[in-house]
Amino acid sequence: MKRRPFIKLSSTVTAGSALLPVTEWLPADPLKNWAGNIEYSTNKVLYPSSPAEVQALVKKFPKLKGLGTRHCFNRIADSKDYLVSSKELNKVVSLDTTNHTVTVEAGIKYGELAPYLHEKGYALPNLASLPHISVAGSVITATHGSGVKNGNLATSVVGLELVDAQGKIHSLSKEKDADTFDGVVVGLGALGVITHVTLALQPTFMMRQYVFERMPMAQLKENFEKIVSTGYSVSLFTDWQSESINEVWIKSRVDDATNSTARPEFYGAPAATKNLHPIAEISAENCTEQMGVPGPWHDRLPHFKMGFTPSSGVELQSEYFVPRQQAVEAILAIARLGKQIGPHLFISEIRTIAPDNFWMSPCYKQPSVALHFTWKQDWPAVSKLLPVIEKELTPFNVRPHWGKLFTLSPQVLASRYEKLPDFKQLVSQYDPKGKFRNDFLNTTIYGS
Ligand SMILES: Cc1cc2nc3c(=O)[nH]c(=O)nc-3n(C[C@H](O)[C@H](O)[C@H](O)COP(=O)(O)OP(=O)(O)OC[C@H]3O[C@@H](n4cnc5c(N)ncnc54)[C@H](O)[C@@H]3O)c2cc1C
Repeated sequence: MKRRPFIKLSSTVTAGSALLPVTEWLPADPLKNWAGNIEYSTNKVLYPSSPAEVQALVKKFPKLKGLGTRHCFNRIADSKDYLVSSKELNKVVSLDTTNHTVTVEAGIKYGELAPYLHEKGYALPNLASLPHISVAGSVITATHGSGVKNGNLATSVVGLELVDAQGKIHSLSKEKDADTFDGVVVGLGALGVITHVTLALQPTFMMRQYVFERMPMAQLKENFEKIVSTGYSVSLFTDWQSESINEVWIKSRVDDATNSTARPEFYGAPAATKNLHPIAEISAENCTEQMGVPGPWHDRLPHFKMGFTPSSGVELQSEYFVPRQQAVEAILAIARLGKQIGPHLFISEIRTIAPDNFWMSPCYKQPSVALHFTWKQDWPAVSKLLPVIEKELTPFNVRPHWGKLFTLSPQVLASRYEKLPDFKQLVSQYDPKGKFRNDFLNTTIYGS
């Protein structure tokens, strides 16, 4: 990634009686998201390094927006005013070895937290395809990995601290605030600036990953449930250009002897003979170790390694969730669009996610299958394809990934989120005047 020159400005905010210095960077170039497809509507970014500084900023400015590692593909993290980055809020606060939880600052990346946890004998149940993303930014959009028994990353959250629009800190826990917690966690950045997150842990574990190539699509029709229930986490990669799934990635726990995935072939797909990248043309150097080599959970659950470019780099992404029981029909519906999709696609990924209780989660109370698209970076073409895909998936009450590109209308979204009225009510308590609202929330959630 190219480094941009920055102009550092000194800035102070008052917290109580103390004057706090807060770094404000004005990038000389326009500030963009990771993929470079979004130019944020402001380049004023503030970098608080404590909750007190966050409080002071929230009190000082009439409008602002939390910002993580900028990996979303749409304008969910955009602001016309100020962005409050969590980059300097990147530390482990405490490890509770009695209750098996870790409390971290909001901006820590999974790739920074995970090796620390492993060293201390702990693990998180799942990770996304990349470890480069911040904890708060990820749970806010219901970021997920795969596995029929694995919920999205937000399902590990048992507590969090956020600064509301008045600058007040709320310390919320799953236990104590049971009536609203499920509305707050996958909060789309609407309720305030998150400063701390507490995550439930489990004992660390080792994993292996095997890849199989060219699985006949027909196997999905007969054996979908068996295929996605093999191992701990399964990803199916396809470009929809043949009657085959290009690559099947299976991640299993080394200690699960009942679920060994070391085999010469898997439902008609021969085992790969070397490490592969999901996009065949790209070097597997960027990918986590395969070929059954054992390694810690955090070096096998993501597809891409920390310190290397994940995915393709210059791309767009969309992802759609449908009920798992209708997975095969939904996959066949997309396969019928293969010729139309093909020229614009790098690769698609099919994953499973266990149900959760988060009001704004696409997997709310629904075992789900996610159909993901890594597009070439051609928005005019992709923007014409998305409505076609969304129409095909209408019979399955499709819900989009909040951090990726979609064109579903606010009315359709409202009809797919039964807890949306409760969510709006909750947001009005934390942010009555819309300090944290941006155009994305105005359009998508408020339909204005
Ligand atoms: C290469 C690539 C691979 C990906 N793979 C996956 C995947 O496997 N699974 C998946 O589900 N998604 C995936 N994503 C999407 C990504 O995980 C989500 O977009 C995630 O939300 C990005 O987190 P972030 O820290 O970059 O947040 P940002 O994009 O910076 O922000 C996301 C949202 O969180 C808010 N926010 C961030 N921090 C705070 C805070 N401290 N307080 C309040 N609000 C805050 C922002 O305002 C915004 O609303 C991928 C993205 C890329 C680029």
